[in-house]
Order: sequence, then structure tokens, then C-alpha cells
Amino acid sequence: MALADTRFATRRRALAAKLAAQRIDSILVTSPIHVRYLSGFTGSNGALLLNKDLSARICTDGRYTTQLAEEVPDIEAIIERASATALLSRIEGSRRVAFEAGRTTVAELDALREVTPEDVTLIPVTGNIEAIRLHKDPFELDRLREVAALASQAFEDLLTAGELAEGRSERQVAADLEYRMRLLGAERPSFDTILASGPNSAKPHHGAGDRIIQRGDLVTIDFGAHARGFNSDMTRTLVMGDAGEFETEIYDVVLRAQLAGVEAAYAGAQLVDIDRACRAIIEDAGYGDYFVHSTGHGIGLEVHEAPSASKTATGVLEEGSTLTIEPGIYVPGRGGVRIEDTLIITAGAPEIITKVSKDLRVV
Ligand code: ZN
Ligand code: ZN
Repeated sequence: MALADTRFATRRRALAAKLAAQRIDSILVTSPIHVRYLSGFTGSNGALLLNKDLSARICTDGRYTTQLAEEVPDIEAIIERASATALLSRIEGSRRVAFEAGRTTVAELDALREVTPEDVTLIPVTGNIEAIRLHKDPFELDRLREVAALASQAFEDLLTAGELAEGRSERQVAADLEYRMRLLGAERPSFDTILASGPNSAKPHHGAGDRIIQRGDLVTIDFGAHARGFNSDMTRTLVMGDAGEFETEIYDVVLRAQLAGVEAAYAGAQLVDIDRACRAIIEDAGYGDYFVHSTGHGIGLEVHEAPSASKTATGVLEEGSTLTIEPGIYVPGRGGVRIEDTLIITAGAPEIITKVSKDLRVV
């Protein structure tokens, strides 16, 4: 079967090459984001069987018959409700068939085993598709720029409208921010918006609760938009009314750490060194015990994906990947600061796609 020369075919070719190198004949792709990544199909139920010779079959249920034909004109389609087992049960001959071990539940695996033809051996694999996703193509980079710009604009609009204000609850402000992202084209937030005020800002993953924002509070807002399959991620911390000595000091330390992390994030850099660049500044300022998470993560189809910049990271940062730089200081009972940008990694200085000022803003 002839493959259309699209980015999806290019990705399938890269995956097929990996399969051949691993002595695997076929891969059964069942996670929706990977089906989409490899075929362009955006439905919620579907599976793709890709063979090492690049032949493929895709299966979904009757709700998506028309959509599948429109989105995936170049892969043989099967319409059946149980898409993964439908594809697996049709395999003929002796074959080693990989499945996505990290994205398959025990129940799903049981169902696969029940229909596996006698001559087929199921091989658990992880990371094959993720490794290809690490390198974003120009289409993906444009989508990531767009969704980050959209979220940045929503944040500026929120501040301009005076919606981050003393007397309002965290929940109200978070809802306004999510509404503004929607108005600008987001399909949904990329994750539950974190809006952490006052003492709550000392909890890195506080949600957005009923606390009323007060004068003197640090307010950490960590948020993102999801559009056209891609996600954004950014954090800014602001101060309400006026900034005290403590607030000003930890903001300054985190900002210096964040800028050092951005400077260290170039293609070829050791991931552990990027974490070190941030952490050293926070440790030197005496707040090392209060930086309780890693420095950054990749982002794309998922909010958290490879690579990871942490204390124990291995490997180097690669051109065409993404990375957040998000150091923080969290002092229990007092408050915290986190500043996060998303970067596109190049051979030179990284491209920062979350374009909101990092100067300390007093609202
Ligand atoms: Zn974030
Ligand atoms: Zn993040």
C-alpha cells in the first residue's frame, strides 16, 4: 500500500525502523495520543497496527467512520468497537507483536491475550514512540508556539482586566483565567490550573481553592492551554499590594536561578547540569532545602514528557526538543515562588515561547 508523504508517514517510518532494529514485526498502538501522532486520527477510540514493512491498519468504532476516512486516507480502515483486539485477532502468520506496556492496563492486556493468535508473540515495549516524539518537527513547534502564545495572552488579559485582585477567591481567578484561554481558542486547560495564594503558595501543587486573596500575598499561578493536541505550561508568581523583604528576596533568588537554567539549556548540555545551574543559586542563597522538585520537563502532546532535568537525570539535551525551566522556593507557612518558562532547544540560545515578563509584578 502506498503511503502519502505526510508527517504522519514520516513518523511511522521512524517507528518502523526502530521495530526492525529490535527484531519486532509489528506494533499495536493503543494510546489515543500515539494513534493521533502516527496517523492523524483524533477520535477517542482507536488502535493502529503498524508493521515493519510500513503496511498498517487502523480501527475505530462506527461513530468515527466518516472522521476516520477524512483524517486518515492512507491507512486501511476497520470499523469495530473493540479496536485493539480487532486488529490483533486479524494478524496472520508467525509474528512478534509489540504493545505499549506503559500505557496498557492489566485488564486491557488480558483482553489482548484472549484473542492473540497462536503464532503471535506479544512483546511489551516502552519508550519507542516517546523517543521519536522527543524531536519536534516544524509543524509541532508551530503548534507549541501558538498554544503558549495563547496562554500568555490570556494571562496578560487577566491582569489587564483586574481579575487578579484582593478579596477574590483563588477559584474565581483560576476560573477567569481558564475562561480567557477558552475565548482565545483553547479547547481546555492543559492541566488543572494552580492558583496558590499566601501560605498556599508554599505548596508546589496546591490547586485553586476557596481562600480569599489578601494584601501582601504571594500568588503563584501555574497554568496551560490545550489546543490542537498540544499543551502549554507556564508559571508566574506575583505579589498583592506590596512586597515585603521575604517576598522580594525569594523572588530575586528564584528569578536568578531560572535565568541561569535558561542559559544552561542548549543542545548538547547534560540534563543534570541544567538542574545544577538552577539548584546551585538557590542553595547558595540558603534555600536549598526549599527547592523540593526537579527543574524541568519536556512538553508536547503531553504536559510531562521527555526529557527530564533533575538531580538524577542522565543524558544530554537535544536540538528540537522542549524543556521547561521551573525552579521554586517553598517555605512552609510563609509562602513560595515559582517561575516557569517553556523553551524550544536549539544549537544556540533557546527560544522562550512563554512570553510574559518575569519582573516582580505587584498587583
Ligand atoms: Zn507548570
Ligand atoms: Zn511544568
